Amino acid sequence: MARKKIAAANWKMYKTPQEAEAYFEEWEAPESKAEVVFFPSTILLDTVSMEISGGNVHFGAQNIHFEKEGAFTGETSPETVKSMGAQYALIGHSERRTLFGETNEITAKKVQAAQAAGLTPMLCIGETLAEREAGKTLDVVKKQLNEGLSTLDAKKPFVLAYEPVWAIGTGKVATPLEAEEVHAQIRAHLAEVLSKAISDTTPILYGGSVKPNNADELSQRPNIDGFLVGGASLKPEEFMQITDSLQA
Ligand code: PEP
Repeated sequence: MARKKIAAANWKMYKTPQEAEAYFEEWEAPESKAEVVFFPSTILLDTVSMEISGGNVHFGAQNIHFEKEGAFTGETSPETVKSMGAQYALIGHSERRTLFGETNEITAKKVQAAQAAGLTPMLCIGETLAEREAGKTLDVVKKQLNEGLSTLDAKKPFVLAYEPVWAIGTGKVATPLEAEEVHAQIRAHLAEVLSKAISDTTPILYGGSVKPNNADELSQRPNIDGFLVGGASLKPEEFMQITDSLQA
C-alpha cells in the first residue's frame, strides 16, 4: 500500500493574524496529491482554520499539554485544539526539546494525549551534530522512538518527522543519501518494534533546511514521504514549490 505524502509547514512563532490572512491570499492548494498541514502558533489556529477549505489541507498545533484540562497556566489542551478543527499535533520538535526541556517521557505523554483527543501526533526525532559526529545517530533516534512511542495506540495513525538538529534553521541540509539512510533505519526499526504493516504505511517526513532547490532530490528517495518545513514555509510561493515536489 502506498504511503501518503505530506508537506507540513511549521510557522514557529511568526506571523500576526493579518500576515496569516495575507499568506492565504497568495497560497493555493496544490495540484499534487500530497496532504498539506499547517502548524501556526496556537493563537493563529482560528485564523488558519477559516482560511483553509478542508479537502487535503489540514492544520495542527505546534505543541499541546498532555492533560485534558486543569490549572496549567499558559498551556493548551489537546481537546481544545481538536475542537477547533485541528487534525494534528506536532510533538517533540527539537526547539521544544532544547529550549523548553521536553524529554522523551513528556513526548510519550503528549503522543498519548493527542491520540486520546483524536489528533494525529507528528513526533519529531533527530540527533545533534555532536551525536552525529560521535556516531550515535541511530542510538539517539531509536531511543527517541522507543520512549516517545511507548504510549502509542498503534491502531491509530501517527507520523514521524526526522529532523537532524544540525540542519534545522541552519541552511545545512542533510544530503538525500544521509537522510534516506536514517529514514530507512527508522522504517526498519518500526517494523521490528511495531509491525511491518505499520512500518510500511507510516509517513516519515524529513525536516531541516528544506528549500525549493533541494526538495526535488530529497523527495525522490523511497523512504522520504514528505517534509516538515520551517523557514521556507513562511513564504507561500516557496512552500507551494516544495509541496509540488511531492508527486504521489
Ligand atoms: C523546522 O522548524 O521543523 C524546520 C525544519 O525548520 P527549517 O526548515 O527552517 O530548517
